[in-house]
Amino acid sequence: AAAFSQTFINMPRPSRPLKVAVIGAGLAGLSCAKYLSDAGHNPVVLEARDVLGGKVAAWQDKDGDWIETGLHIFFGAYPNVNQMFTELGIRDRLQWKSHSMIFAMPGQQTADGFQRFSRFDFPDLLPAPLNGLVAILLNNEMLTFPEKIQFGIGLIPAILFGQKYVEECDSLTVTEWMTKQGVPDRVNDEVFIAMAKALNFIDPDNLSMTVVLTALNRFLQETHGSKMAFLDGPPPTRLCQPMADHMIARGGELRMNQRISSILLNDDKTVRGLKMQDGSMVEADAYVSTMPVDVLKLMLPEEWRPIPYFEKLSGLTGVPVINIHLWFDRKLTTVDHLLFSRSPLLSVYADMSLTCKGYRDDDKSMLELVFAPAKDWIGRSDEDIIDATMGELYRLFPNELARDGSGAKLLKYAVVKTPLSVYEATAGREMYRPEQTSPIPNFFLAGCFTKQKYLASMEGATFSGKLAARALADAAIAGTIPLKEKESSAVAA
Ligand code: FAD
Repeated sequence: AAAFSQTFINMPRPSRPLKVAVIGAGLAGLSCAKYLSDAGHNPVVLEARDVLGGKVAAWQDKDGDWIETGLHIFFGAYPNVNQMFTELGIRDRLQWKSHSMIFAMPGQQTADGFQRFSRFDFPDLLPAPLNGLVAILLNNEMLTFPEKIQFGIGLIPAILFGQKYVEECDSLTVTEWMTKQGVPDRVNDEVFIAMAKALNFIDPDNLSMTVVLTALNRFLQETHGSKMAFLDGPPPTRLCQPMADHMIARGGELRMNQRISSILLNDDKTVRGLKMQDGSMVEADAYVSTMPVDVLKLMLPEEWRPIPYFEKLSGLTGVPVINIHLWFDRKLTTVDHLLFSRSPLLSVYADMSLTCKGYRDDDKSMLELVFAPAKDWIGRSDEDIIDATMGELYRLFPNELARDGSGAKLLKYAVVKTPLSVYEATAGREMYRPEQTSPIPNFFLAGCFTKQKYLASMEGATFSGKLAARALADAAIAGTIPLKEKESSAVAA
C-alpha cells in the first residue's frame, strides 16, 4: 500500500492539472481526491449532505453525544486504510485492542453473575497462520475438536488453490459450502451466523462463501490481520476531515450540501457536466462517482443504460442495517473490545464508553449495537426496535439489566436506519461489480461496491478511491481524457 501511494507522488507533474469532480465525500471519494491531489490534479469534492463520511458519518444530539451511522472496526488486514492514517500523521487515533475475537455466550454467566464470553486469543509471539490455529485450538467452549478438524479439512481446497478457488466459491452461499465440504451444521450455527452478520449484515444462508474465504484468507495469512482497532472518536472529525484537509492544502476543493441531480452528456456520450439540485451546473475535465450503487443506478443517463458495464449494476442492491446507541446509568461490562452477540436479532456490539477514548465515561455504559439482518425491521418504529433490542439484552445481561428494575437503567437511545447500505453480497454477486475504469473516457467509478479485493468495507472504499485516482491519472498521462478546451470551462458552479 505504501508503494502504491508513492506512485502518485512520483508521477510526472501534469502540464495541465485536471479539474476532477468527485461525487461524494465518503471514504472512497475522499481517498480518490487525496490521491488525485498527490498526483498534481485538482479534485473538487461534491457532497450532498452537511456531514463528511457517508456510511461513516456521525453527528451530535442535543446533549452533545455523538450518533454514528455504524459501529466501525478497523483491522490489521486493512493495508490502505492503515497507510492512509500514516500518510495523514494520525496513526495514534487508532486504538488497537488485544488480538482476540470475543463471542457472547447467551444464557451463561460467570460465577459472580456477569455475562460470560468465549475468547479466541491469538498469541503475540507466533506468526500467521500459527497464531490463528492456536487461537482456534485453545477454544473448546464453542466447537469440539472433531468439529474443528472437519472445518479445517473443508478449508484445504482454499489453501491449495488460493484466490482462484476463493472466487469460484462465489456461486455458493456459506451454508451450501459448509454442507458440500461436510462441515457439521453446528460450526455454522456457533460461529458463521455471527461472522456472516458482521461481514455483510445477512445470514450464512444468503451470504456468498467468497466473502468469508476472503476474510479468513487475510486473517490466516497476516499475523496482525484479525487484530481490531476502534477510532478514538467520530469518523468525520477524526478521519474524514484530515483527508479533506490534505487535498485542500494541495489545491483541491470541498463543497458540502451539493447534491447532484443528473449527469448531462455530450453527443458522444461523454459527460458534459453535472446538474446540481439547486439548478446550477458543475463542469470538469473528468468525473468520479462514489455514490452508493443504488443512487448511481437511479442517476444513470438513459444513453448509458444499455452499455453492459452499466447494465450489470442492476445485479447489485444495498442491504438494510440498523445502528443502535443505548446509554445506561451504570457500567454493564468491563470488556474493552468488539463483542459478537450471537443473538438472533443483533450482530456485533461494543461498550463505546470503554473502547473509544472520545466517548469515554468511567461510570456509565454506551452500547453501540448493529441490528442485523434488518430487512423485517427497517420499516418498524424506533420504539419497536428498541423493545426488541432490550429483549435480546435481557438475555445477554440477565443480572446486569435485571427486569425487576434493580439493574442498570436505560437513560436514552438513538436509532440510525440505513435502508440501503453496502451491496448485499449474496452468492453470485462478484460478476456484477464494476471496475473503476468505465467505457466513458471522462467518467470513473469508486465506492466499496466496485471491484477490488477487500469486500464492501472501509478498506474496500479507500482502496477503490485510490484505484480510481490511479486509473484517472494514468488516463491523463495517456491523453485519453477529452479535455475541456477553454480554461474557464474547468469546474465552475
Ligand atoms: P459512502 O460512505 O456511502 O459514500 C457515498 C457518499 O456519496 C456519501 O457521502 C453520500 O452522501 C454521497 N452522495 C450520495 N448521493 C449523492 C449525490 N446525488 N450528490 C452528491 N453526493 C452524493 N466497514 C468496515 O470496514 N468495518 C466495519 O466495522 C463496518 N461497519 C459498518 C456498520 C454499518 C452499520 C454500516 C452501514 C457500514 C459498515 N461498514 C464497515 C462499511 C463501510 O462503512 C462502507 O463500506 C464504507 O464507508 C463505504 O464508503 P463509500 O465511500 O464507498 O460509500
